[in-house]
Amino acid sequence: MIKNYTTSNLLSDSKEIKHYFGKKNFLFPDSEKIYFLNQLHSNKVIFISSEFDLNRQEGGDAIISSKRNFFIGIKTADCVPILLSDRNSSFVAAIHAGWRGTFYKVLDKTIKKIVKEFNCNPKDIIAAIGPSIGMCCYEINLSLWEKFNQRFTLAPDDFNQIGKKYYLNLQSINKNLLNNNGIESIDLILNCTKCDESFYSYRRDGSTEQSQISIIKLN
Ligand SMILES: [Zn+2]
Repeated sequence: MIKNYTTSNLLSDSKEIKHYFGKKNFLFPDSEKIYFLNQLHSNKVIFISSEFDLNRQEGGDAIISSKRNFFIGIKTADCVPILLSDRNSSFVAAIHAGWRGTFYKVLDKTIKKIVKEFNCNPKDIIAAIGPSIGMCCYEINLSLWEKFNQRFTLAPDDFNQIGKKYYLNLQSINKNLLNNNGIESIDLILNCTKCDESFYSYRRDGSTEQSQISIIKLN
């Protein structure tokens, strides 16, 4: 039995893939293999072809896979989990984008690699941006806000300012990165991990020890 998760309607439409955005206490069969990276808050992308040895530990923050029948996953507690596939189910991808990954455009790098590797039309790519800290709770300091504004020219959806407090919308900035790459089929799962206690939150719990997993596989 699989329990305690949420899913994307867009990704669920594909019979060729399975995916879960796990919540706290995500219950998942031990027998299912999941491949994780040692996450680095980087923009390093790991590509898993059919010859890839799954016992090999790699560091990075995005996984692309064309290998069938096993899950790839990423761990987050406030950072943004993003899952991708395409209408032909030629690949799946899982991306971890905190502020660093967002700033260094890990998503951008992942999509460029997918388009090149699979000769894929961005219009056929399907994306789901999963539960992460919302703009309601993601306060950042002025210098980080300035850094982001210089790099992305923030639009009204991307941030909020209340008095001297600045709040960033990491989901929205990543959605823009998808749009800029020609991707239009995007699901946004809006639960804020800090407001919604069914998720782990680094900001709320003050601990990086526990995180939820987001996983996807090609059947
Ligand atoms: Zn919130």
